[in-house]
Amino acid sequence: MNEKNDDIYIYGDIQIKANKWGANYYLKSSYPVRHGQYSQIETPAYIFQFNLNGEIKLIQDKINAPLYPGEWFKRSMANDWTFYASPGYGATYHFMGEYYLPCFSYPTNAVFDDYIFNNERLEQALNAFKELIDRLKRLSTKGMPVEIESFLKSVTENNLDRLKHKGEDFHSILNSRISVLPPDTRHTDYDVIPIILSDGCLYNCGFCAVKSGQEFQVRSQQDILKQIKGLKTFYGDDLPNYNSLFLGMHDALNVEKELIEYTIETAVETFDIEHSKMLYPKLFLFGSVDSLLDADESLFETLNKMPFYTFINIGMESPDQETLDKLRKPLSADKVKKSFEKMLDINLAFDYVEITANFVIGSDLPDGHFSSIAELTKKEYLESHNKDLIMAITSMAAPKMHENYVKKGNIYLSPLIGDKSLKKMLKRFDELKKSGYLSMFMYLIQRL
Ligand code: SF4
Repeated sequence: MNEKNDDIYIYGDIQIKANKWGANYYLKSSYPVRHGQYSQIETPAYIFQFNLNGEIKLIQDKINAPLYPGEWFKRSMANDWTFYASPGYGATYHFMGEYYLPCFSYPTNAVFDDYIFNNERLEQALNAFKELIDRLKRLSTKGMPVEIESFLKSVTENNLDRLKHKGEDFHSILNSRISVLPPDTRHTDYDVIPIILSDGCLYNCGFCAVKSGQEFQVRSQQDILKQIKGLKTFYGDDLPNYNSLFLGMHDALNVEKELIEYTIETAVETFDIEHSKMLYPKLFLFGSVDSLLDADESLFETLNKMPFYTFINIGMESPDQETLDKLRKPLSADKVKKSFEKMLDINLAFDYVEITANFVIGSDLPDGHFSSIAELTKKEYLESHNKDLIMAITSMAAPKMHENYVKKGNIYLSPLIGDKSLKKMLKRFDELKKSGYLSMFMYLIQRL
């Protein structure tokens, strides 16, 4: 017999909760938090969470997950699955700045060997999802509330084949895959609407695994408008669950200010960001050492007035010349240091713009790489650059090992792909983190 209990609908051992609300902002928490509005179907073995298009977004395994409910699979709009592992909150926060460790189903620079994507478990979960769809198709709709009937219809239509095609449609709209998201997108659990402003990059560095190999080229305004319109249709009923944008690809900071402004304003209006179900909209983009050094103050003034908190991640890689040469990055260490100083200045000058820096980490990089990062992040250097950088601790969120800290400008360390000396690398990470006065985290390559 079918039962209705408040907003929970029970059909045999299937429990349906439609239009549930999670948190309306992205909070960092040691217990699992769901965000925005969604619907959920629970069976004895799994919890399936759906977005407002009726597309599966998250699967939580109630039986096989040893740390249930601390682990789950999440599907991106590009139809990639990520496994959120829970190796221990303290250690994960120390390395990632988050309480859960994302494990990817594709090759990346992941370093935590004990926590890898488990294909077998995903396959089991997806088989359970297929079985669920078959069962839902056989459910009698007699006496079923209209909203539940319509929700179940969209769930059964969005089977795995259809979702695969939707992932391909997503990349067709962008006319590209997104090979890497900025590290700062962790602040919205990687839930962003991407808009590609440019392709290629300035340096095409030898070591880089995410580059397209193309020369830097800016997209036309017409192309950008086409993407925005296409994305509005693609995100569909789930669009109000988003309030954050990623301006791609590797160096949107190198795009002329007017086009950046046009893109943001058009996206804000078209996606109706103001009425999103989520609070605190964020804007993310990558920049390069040269685009940061060339950027006019007026660009940051413009970004500072936008309805977003903007994060710009600069791929600096190393302040050490020997390391830059080894990485085959055609830049001087002097330029990298100047861009680092500009990052510090901008972070002090603008309340709603935050520049973050990305350096590589690897076990066999020259010692000069580590000593030069340590030099740039130590208290004496920061104070000599600008004494206002070091803030007195006023909150529990401040790093415990220092009396003072710098509020903005995280440093991300991106492991070099293929580095097998994990222990040595993590030891280096710890040493840098302990000696530095800027927050420091690992950066794993996540695509979209
Ligand atoms: S590190 Fe950045 S600039 Fe260098 S090739 Fe990769 S994307 Fe391009």
